[in-house]
Formats: sequence, structure tokens, C-alpha cells
Amino acid sequence: MPGYEAEPGYSRSRRLKRVPGARQLYARSATLAINTMAWFKRESAPLDTSGEKRVKTEGLWVKCDQCRQIIWKKDLDQNSNVCPKCDRHFRIDARTRLSYLLDDGKYEMEDSNLVSTDPLKFTDLKSYAGRLQRSQQETGLNDAVINARGKLDGKPVIVSAMEYAFIGGSMGTVVGEMITRAIERATAEKLPLIVVSASGGARMMEGVISLMQLAKISAALARMDDAKVPYISLMTDPTTGGVTASFAMLGDLNIAEPGALIGFAGPRVIEQTIRQKLPEGFQRSEFLLEHGMLDAVVRRHELKAYISRALDFMKVPALIPA
Ligand SMILES: [Zn+2]
Repeated sequence: MPGYEAEPGYSRSRRLKRVPGARQLYARSATLAINTMAWFKRESAPLDTSGEKRVKTEGLWVKCDQCRQIIWKKDLDQNSNVCPKCDRHFRIDARTRLSYLLDDGKYEMEDSNLVSTDPLKFTDLKSYAGRLQRSQQETGLNDAVINARGKLDGKPVIVSAMEYAFIGGSMGTVVGEMITRAIERATAEKLPLIVVSASGGARMMEGVISLMQLAKISAALARMDDAKVPYISLMTDPTTGGVTASFAMLGDLNIAEPGALIGFAGPRVIEQTIRQKLPEGFQRSEFLLEHGMLDAVVRRHELKAYISRALDFMKVPALIPA
């Protein structure tokens, strides 16, 4: 630059030496410049196509997705996985559900040997066989339901609890068969049946065979009704698709946890079909109760006592002393 002359002996390194902390600052600003590059670059990680939302709760703290408060994991566990601040009912797995419902958390598992044969040899982005294997490893179950036998407030009951973490709790051949077996066993032994739904609907990887389960389960429930054995359907977040369209809505008593999503088609599909804006709270338990689709919305803490009272009211034949 014309006319410009640096002071004699000037150099950047010498100037950095003169100002305390300047060298670190200089180094940091260089790193910052490199880091900002990533802000404008698209990471080329492969697209996650698992289709399942996972909530990681391994840490000590959990963020509530309703009130946005940070909750200590231990507080949440002690409060039956219900947010102590806003009463949001967190999703829980089938084993935790059974431990809340049955006396001393004890139960016997049945039909857990059934495994899907992948009848259509189905492959979309991943093979169905691979998805099955991964879910089996992650949940330690063969499919998306646990059939259990135990006592609820001293009353023998049969419970089928669905596992949402297993391919979205979808209903394929195994889920359909296991629920049918639970119904038939309850009918034969005159024991009340409780089905806890948590499902995205029928399992599309088993195509029409999964849709057949709706009819099979409904037929078994009709025979159970003829035998006058009570069936309580407990809907949890979420209960959608073919499960809502069949056994979830066929209970002698249909109850749900607060704030649970319950519906057949998703809200976006409905909006596009009827070309109307849907009301707030649409497809949530409270909305369904208000519109006569449910008998009650029961908080998780009161579920066991509520079901026990309901069974007393229904006077289960097997429970009446001879
Ligand atoms: Zn909350």
C-alpha cells in the first residue's frame, strides 16, 4: 500500500506476545472460522427410514415434550412415568405397563414362542426380516405384544399388552394370533380380559394377512361376548389404524389414558379428504370422551383401582363364590 509503513520490527507473532491472552484468542477465532463452515454444509448422513420415533431416556434428566420442563428421571419413574408438572402421560413399554397393573408386578407370560414367518418375503427400504430381527433384539420380544396372566387386586385376569417399540406396535399375524389366543383362553376359563393397545395399526409388511387379523379377533370377541366374559379395552398413546378399527373399540368398557392419540386415519389425511380444518384436541382421549366414543379417561395412577372396581361391577362369573 503506498505510503504505508509498518512500525520497525512489526510482526504478528511479536504483537501476540505483547498482549496477554491474545494468542489463545487468535487460535480460537481460527477454530470458529472452521466450525462455521459446517453450518452451511448439509451432512450427508443416510436418511432414517425406521419410521419410529424414539425417545431416549437413558440420561438422568428427561425433557417433557408438553410443558418443556426438565424432569429428573427418578421423579418421573416414581410418578408412574407421568410428568409431575403438567400431568403428561409418557409412553411406557409393555413390561412396565404390566408391572403397574398386576399385583407385585408379577405375571406369567404366554404364547411368547410365536414368531412371524414373513409370509410375503417383503422388502421396502429394508427387508422385513431384518426389521423383525432388529426389533427382537431391541425389545427382547418375538413380536409386538405380551400375553400375561396374573392378578389385579387379587382377581385373576388375562392381559395382552402391546409393545409400541416393536415396529410401531403394528399388528401382523403374530399379534393377531396372540390376542385371539388370549381371548379364547379368557373365554374358556371365564377370566376377565384386559387388552392394552399401543399401536400404529395393521402391519403393512404382512399385507392382507395382517388385515385378516381384524376379522379373526373380532369373531373371537363376539364368542367371548356370548359367553358373558368381560373385556376391558385400555387405549394408550397412540391407538390408531386397524387396532382402533377392531378390538380397541369393542370392549365392554372402553377406557383411555389422558391425552392419548386415538383414531383411525391421521388428521392430515382427514383434513385433505373433508377439506375442513379439524378442531383442537381432535383424536385425543378427552375429545373422544366428550363425543361419546369412550366410557372414561382414567389417569395412570388410578387405572388399577378403576379396573378393579369395574370388574367388581361386572361380576365376573368365575369370581362369584359357588
Ligand atoms: Zn410436563
